[in-house]
Amino acid sequence: MSQMKTDIVVSGGGIAGLSLGILLAGAGLDVHLIDAAPPVPKADVSGRTVALMENSLNILRAADIWDDIREHAAPLAVMRIVDESGAEAEFHAEDIGLKQFGFNIPNAPLRDALYEAAKNTKNLTLHMPDALEAYGTGDTIRAKLKSGKEITAALIIGADGRNSMVRKISGIECTEHDDEQSAITCLIAHSRAHNNTATEFHRPGGPLALVPMPGNISSVVWIEPTERAGEFMRLKKDEFTQALQERTKDILGAITLESNPECWPLKTLKAKTLTAPRAVLMAEAAHVISPITAQGLNLSLRDVAALAETLVDAARAGLDIGSVSVLEKYERRRRVDINTRVFGVGGMNKIVSTELAALKGLRRAGLKTVDAITPIKKIAMRIGLAPEIDAGRLAKGQKL
Ligand SMILES: Cc1cc2nc3c(=O)[nH]c(=O)nc-3n(C[C@H](O)[C@H](O)[C@H](O)COP(=O)(O)OP(=O)(O)OC[C@H]3O[C@@H](n4cnc5c(N)ncnc54)[C@H](O)[C@@H]3O)c2cc1C
Repeated sequence: MSQMKTDIVVSGGGIAGLSLGILLAGAGLDVHLIDAAPPVPKADVSGRTVALMENSLNILRAADIWDDIREHAAPLAVMRIVDESGAEAEFHAEDIGLKQFGFNIPNAPLRDALYEAAKNTKNLTLHMPDALEAYGTGDTIRAKLKSGKEITAALIIGADGRNSMVRKISGIECTEHDDEQSAITCLIAHSRAHNNTATEFHRPGGPLALVPMPGNISSVVWIEPTERAGEFMRLKKDEFTQALQERTKDILGAITLESNPECWPLKTLKAKTLTAPRAVLMAEAAHVISPITAQGLNLSLRDVAALAETLVDAARAGLDIGSVSVLEKYERRRRVDINTRVFGVGGMNKIVSTELAALKGLRRAGLKTVDAITPIKKIAMRIGLAPEIDAGRLAKGQKL
C-alpha cells in the first residue's frame, strides 16, 4: 500500500478544486488533489457554460489560465430582462464604468485548461481518476483513497461537490431542499447578432436565459418545474427547437440547436458550518444555489480566493494551517457572503418563477422601478453583477 505525506489534501477536482490546488501549490504549499472523474475529453460539446464576473476572472488570472480560455469566452456587456408582458429593463456595464460585467465561458474548456495547468504545477500531485473513501483525524488527517493509497496531511479540503464525501465524513450537517425545478441547457446558433447582450425572460415556472458565446452562438439555461422539463427533454429535435423559438420571442432571430439538450435537477444546499477538525468545506460542497442569477461558481471562486489567502498567510507566518484558529478565520470571512447569496437567490427564484398574482405584480413593479430609477439601477448592478463583498487581494487582481 502506497503511503504519502503532504501539507494539504484537496478532495474534488472540479473548477473550484483545481483552481485552489493551483493557487496553493503555486505559493509553495505541497498539495495532493483527488478527483473521481477522469479528465474532460477534448471533444466535449456540452452546452453548460458559466457567466463569471470580473472579480472571479481575476482569480482565474491568478491561476494563470485566462489566456488559454479567452478565445472560448464572450464578454457580457449588457444584461436585459424581459417579463411575460414584454416589459424590458437593460443594465449596461458602461453605466458603472466597466467595459463588461464579465465573460461567459464553456465549462469543458475551462476545466480542461485548469487540468492542464494543474498537471504542470510544481508541488501539486494529481490522483485522477481516484476517490476519497475515508479519512481519520488526530494531529494530522489520514486520507484513504479507492486505489488503496493513503495520504497524511495537516488539512483536508472538501471541494467534492454537492454530495461531498468530506462533508459526510466530518459530520458537518447541512440544510437542503429540492427546488422542484430543472435546468435545460444547450447551445444555439441564431440569425441575429447578440451584441454581447445576455437576455433573461422571466416567466411563470422559471426563467429562460440566453447568454452570448463567441460568434452568433448563445448558451441557453431554461428552467422549468422538473416534470415539465422532462416533457421538453422527450421532444424530437425539431419540436424542441420550435418550443425554444417560441419562448425566445424571436429576439435572436431563427435558431438552430448546436448541442444536445441536457437536463440538471436543481436544489438548494447550505452547510451549517464550513469547518471541522482539520477539515474545511468550499464551493458546492458548502453551498448549492439555483443558476437563476449565475452566482454559483462566482460565489465558489470567492471561497477559493479566501481559502488560498488565509492558508498561504498562515503558512508564511509559520502557523499550523489545519489549526482551529486558522480555519475559523476562513469561516468568519465567508459567512456573510454565503448566507446573503443562498437566501437572496432563493427569494429571487420565488419572485421570478411565481404564478401567484401578488408576487407577479411585485416582479413587474420591481422591474419597472429598477429600470426607471438610475441610482437604484446602479446599486442593483453593483450588488448583483460586480459584487465587492469579500473582494480580497486575488479578486482585486493582486498577487497571492
Ligand atoms: C445549469 C447550470 C448553469 C450554471 N450557470 C452558472 C453561471 O452562469 N455562473 C456561475 O457562477 N455558476 C453557474 N452554475 C454553477 C456552477 O456550474 C457550479 O457552481 C460549479 O460547476 C460547481 O463547481 P464545483 O467545483 O464546486 O463542483 P463540481 O463541478 O461538482 O466538482 C466536484 C468534483 O468533485 C469530484 N468528487 C466527488 N466525490 C468525490 C470523491 N469522493 N473523491 C474525489 N473527488 C470527488 C467530482 O468528480 C467533481 O469533479 C450553474 C449551474 C448549473 C446547474
